[in-house]
Amino acid sequence: MKVRVRKIDELKTQEARALAVELLKGRRKLNVEVYVADRKRGFAETLEDGTRVVVVPLWATTAPGLFSYYLAHELAHHYASCFDGSDVHCRAFMKWFKRICPADLWHHELDYNPREAEAAGIAYN
Ligand SMILES: [Zn+2]
Repeated sequence: MKVRVRKIDELKTQEARALAVELLKGRRKLNVEVYVADRKRGFAETLEDGTRVVVVPLWATTAPGLFSYYLAHELAHHYASCFDGSDVHCRAFMKWFKRICPADLWHHELDYNPREAEAAGIAYN
């Protein structure tokens, strides 16, 4: 392991990596190291050596839909930054989020980022 992520849950990390393969099926491959860790928030970060890291918080893995949503959200950050040079929750991010996240889970984004989500045409079903 190149990165030091603290409090990693090995089992959930394996699940998350399998899930990421599913979510990214057919997409251009980005080298992203995915982890699940017992922490408050997840994140997407590119390290100084160029390694792309995604961390999903353990609490988000307790509900399957939330797990996929959270992972898709963080992966979308890397796709938006790599292919659109974007680093925040902007339109490019939302475009990638909608590509990566299954449509029936988009609504989670409304709880997190309502303004951008609504602007991207996401609504509660
Ligand atoms: Zn985000």
